[in-house]
Amino acid sequence: MDVKKIYMDADALLEGHFKLSSGNHSQFYLQSAKVLEDPKTAKLLAEALAVQIRASGLEIDTVCAPALGGLIAGFALATALDVRFIFAERVEGVMTIRRGFEVKKDEKVLMCEDIITTGGSAMEAAFAVEALGGIIVGAAALANRGFCKRENSDIETKPNCKLPLDIPFFALADFTFEMYAPDACPLCKDGSEAIKPGSRGN
Ligand code: ZN
Repeated sequence: MDVKKIYMDADALLEGHFKLSSGNHSQFYLQSAKVLEDPKTAKLLAEALAVQIRASGLEIDTVCAPALGGLIAGFALATALDVRFIFAERVEGVMTIRRGFEVKKDEKVLMCEDIITTGGSAMEAAFAVEALGGIIVGAAALANRGFCKRENSDIETKPNCKLPLDIPFFALADFTFEMYAPDACPLCKDGSEAIKPGSRGN
C-alpha cells in the first residue's frame, strides 16, 4: 500500500512553509483529516493497519484515541479489529477519560492516533487509561513522523520519542521530513513566511 500516494492524492500532504504546533517550521504538513474524509479510504487504511497488528499476535480489548486528532483513525481501527473504542479528551489541559467510559482492571488497551510525531498526545491519554487500571499494550497510527521506532521499519527511536520502548508501535508508513527551529529555518532565510496549518484553508 502506497500511503504517501494516498496522502498526496487526497491533498493531505501539503508543501509550503508551515509553522507546526511545536513551534518548529517545516516544508511539509500532513493533514490526515483530508485522507479520512473519504470513509472508504479510512476503512482501507485501518484494515491494513489491523492486518499488521493481528499478525503480531498482540491481544487487544480496546482502542483508545486522544481527541480530536485520533478519533477517526481510532474508530476505524477499532472497527477493523472488532474491539471497543473509547477516547480521551482534554479537560482544562489534562487528558481525561469522560463520557461514562469505563476501563476494567488489566484491560488491554491500544493507543491510536492519526499520526504519531513524538507520541506525546497518545501517552497523555495512556496515563488517563492507566489511572483507571488499564494496561497499554501498544500504539498505532496511520503514519509515523520518524521519531519513534515502529514495527517493520529500520527507523531508530530518537531521544524525543515519548512512546515506551517496551510496547510495539504499528504504522503504515514513515514520513520523515525535516523540521527546523525558526532561527535555523532555510525557508525563512529565503524570505518566505511560515503559516500555521489551518489558517488559510489548509
Ligand atoms: Zn521558517
